[in-house]
Amino acid sequence: MRTHSVEEPYSCEICQQTFSQSSNLNRHMDIHSETKIHSDYCDFETPHKSSLKRHLKRYHSEHKEKCPVCDVYFYSKESLQSHTCKKL
Ligand SMILES: [Zn+2]
Ligand SMILES: [Zn+2]
Ligand SMILES: [Zn+2]
Repeated sequence: MRTHSVEEPYSCEICQQTFSQSSNLNRHMDIHSETKIHSDYCDFETPHKSSLKRHLKRYHSEHKEKCPVCDVYFYSKESLQSHTCKKL
């Protein structure tokens, strides 16, 4: 006989939190992700590209030189030119 308790067969290997759907677990794994991206100008880091973009705009908007390909900001034209664009 089945119980009415909610089954949560997906569990995080890192923090043991459980999830009913694999998609929820996948989303959760973002917080443990090793592939964090970080601000070039301070210690801020995040797994989400969108929040880094927001951060750059908010705190480093004085960095006017921006790579048109990967949306990274730079202090000067020189640093922009020395930047190796990952998308190229
Ligand atoms: Zn976890
Ligand atoms: Zn920053
Ligand atoms: Zn670039």
